[in-house]
Amino acid sequence: MADKSYKAELVGVYGCPVAENPTVIMEEAGFKSLNLNYRYLTMEVKPEDLKAAMESLKVLNMKGINLTIPHKVEVLKYLDSVAADAEIIGAVNTVYVKDGKLYGENTDGKGFMISLKEDGGLEAKGKKVVIFGAGGAARAITVELALAGASHIIVINRNEERGLALVKLLNDKTPVKAEFAVWDHIFKVPEDADIVINSTSIGLYPNIDEKPEIDYSTLKNHMLVCDVIPNPPQTAFLNEAQKYGVKTIDGLGMLVNQGAIGFKIWTGKDAPVNVMKEALKKEFEV
Ligand code: NDP
Repeated sequence: MADKSYKAELVGVYGCPVAENPTVIMEEAGFKSLNLNYRYLTMEVKPEDLKAAMESLKVLNMKGINLTIPHKVEVLKYLDSVAADAEIIGAVNTVYVKDGKLYGENTDGKGFMISLKEDGGLEAKGKKVVIFGAGGAARAITVELALAGASHIIVINRNEERGLALVKLLNDKTPVKAEFAVWDHIFKVPEDADIVINSTSIGLYPNIDEKPEIDYSTLKNHMLVCDVIPNPPQTAFLNEAQKYGVKTIDGLGMLVNQGAIGFKIWTGKDAPVNVMKEALKKEFEV
């Protein structure tokens, strides 16, 4: 009885809206599997309350927090220290508390990089990348690819201003050569591309029949085709790409691995990645 403790360690996510965020499913499956007395709380925090919510991490002696829409950029103001890659990306999705200070990380792009290597069998170094989208996910992924030595990144986006801003950021702050093409036509993938990524929200549940407007016949079997959409994992984009003989990786790998990095930061333990992935897969089947 002497070493029994009923005290739970607290982590979670702040977002608005946040009700549909599935991270609790994988994090709690991981805690349970390692017998850790941790709770992951899905909390609605309004933009005007973010400062107070970040202060409460210390008051409640929490281990840390994930940030989702609309807090990932705004939260930078309330942190004591931000990791170098998150600083370039300009957004933080994972915070931990240490010695009364708040530290920010961005695990989205890192989760993609782990999936690229483990599920796709590829290293970024020297690779030519084509990415559709220039939002938060694309920023995180392209900065990590660039820092890992990708040679060339082509950003394709519908909104020109956003696409150009991402390319400027990559060219100014990383060693990669980046260029932009506006997405107002059926895009033909250059033959020398190594990695092709959908980083838009096209195909996300419930719009599961939608896929990016590209000329799929320009996909060649030396290319690795990646989707960031985690739900459903097998998107219409990946279905169509597979008809052309390419290898593909889905967004579930990125999602689980970015969550696994947070798990390790907060608990100090290696995350049971397969347990977490199975929990999410089961959840998305419903
Ligand atoms: P943002 O809102 O920041 O960006 C959305 C991007 O999608 C923009 O580039 C936007 O283009 C583009 N887009 C949306 N609809 C269309 C369309 N019909 N045609 C062309 N382009 C379109 O979102 P995020 O970058 O944060 O997220 C994008 C997706 O990534 C989401 O679906 C999310 O679920 C997924 N995601 C997955 C993660 C994972 O771990 N697997 C982690 C984070 C996100 P424009 O600029 O022209 O509007």
